[in-house]
Amino acid sequence: MKARSDCPGCGGSLLSPILKLPRQPAVMNYRFPDAASARRVPRRDVTLVQCQECGLVFNASFDGSAVPYDGAYENRQCFSPAFNSHLEALAGGITRRNRLEGGRILEVGCGKGDFLRLLCRAAGATGDGYDTTFESTGRPEAVGLRFFRHYVGPSDLTHPYDAVICRHVVEHVPEIGAFLKALHAIATAAGDPVVVLETPRFEWIVEHSCLWDVFHEHCNYFTEAALAQLCRMAGFRVVRQRPVFGGQYQVLELKRSKVAAKARVEHRLSPPKFGAFGRRAQQTLDRLAARISKAAAGRGWAVWGAGAKGVALVNQLPRCRPRRVIDSNPAKQGGVIPATSVRIVGPDDPMIPRLGLIVIANPNYAAEIRSDLSRLGFTGRILTL
Ligand SMILES: [Zn+2]
Repeated sequence: MKARSDCPGCGGSLLSPILKLPRQPAVMNYRFPDAASARRVPRRDVTLVQCQECGLVFNASFDGSAVPYDGAYENRQCFSPAFNSHLEALAGGITRRNRLEGGRILEVGCGKGDFLRLLCRAAGATGDGYDTTFESTGRPEAVGLRFFRHYVGPSDLTHPYDAVICRHVVEHVPEIGAFLKALHAIATAAGDPVVVLETPRFEWIVEHSCLWDVFHEHCNYFTEAALAQLCRMAGFRVVRQRPVFGGQYQVLELKRSKVAAKARVEHRLSPPKFGAFGRRAQQTLDRLAARISKAAAGRGWAVWGAGAKGVALVNQLPRCRPRRVIDSNPAKQGGVIPATSVRIVGPDDPMIPRLGLIVIANPNYAAEIRSDLSRLGFTGRILTL
């Protein structure tokens, strides 16, 4: 597949290369029941480039048709206390600042609905969530909470909303400029809500030389400056933007701007250069492979975390395969990860205490995982990335 030569954010054509990862699994967060289906995962290139006009970093080889967003797409992190405390702080902060108590919330891309339930409970609000990957829990939802298994557009809105939430969506949307304009149209149909975006923050990936945070499922990688610029170009005003979750994510609170969007397109950025990132990240990965081989010698090792970081890491270490991937999400346990087909087990798997090394894929979960490992009587080494 030919790499695109225009920026999906601003339409610019001045693109500078960052790195290329050939033939990566197209999807990370997907339930594969067995090795045969996991091996059949489509493979696509990751060709990371940066637009020199708006600053957007994106995969010019992205193929959205290879990523199935259906019920088997599974990326919940709500089984972690650290992640839940992030969600609670986020819900409390946006409720307080935007007076959402008793209001109406719309979530664009609500996943399985966990955050919308939490936010509506915290704010005493009602909510509508839209996502093609939504699955009912089988239990009745709280009064005033509704879920729809399709994409949302302005014509779906039959009443105003006080907030439009869009978490961990923009990094998956190839035509990001058009998507942010569509979000603006939804915000217009919703009245004058606060629009809340949450997405990974590319600065964290670069600072940590984190190659395992670059994978095909994410087509966009936003610095704070580039995302703010794209939001302004779509007709929003950035009310608040800050790093959260140890700097891994960024949260933006937006309002519709009263100034015409077109004028601001003239304002160009001079984006920072990321040319050295690919080389540094590869060196970091090579050092890590050597450390793992030494520390796990004879007893084997496991990755804790079957989210995108853990799955990408295993795929990037072809000569040093873990015995297991551990995850506290029961919906992932019993399956295998894409491409390498390493089995996903829960924290109580009997093999864990016998392993020589556990690698913790995300440092934000290190404290809770270390405490689980000590409870399990694990005596091997622990390496936090
Ligand atoms: Zn651009």
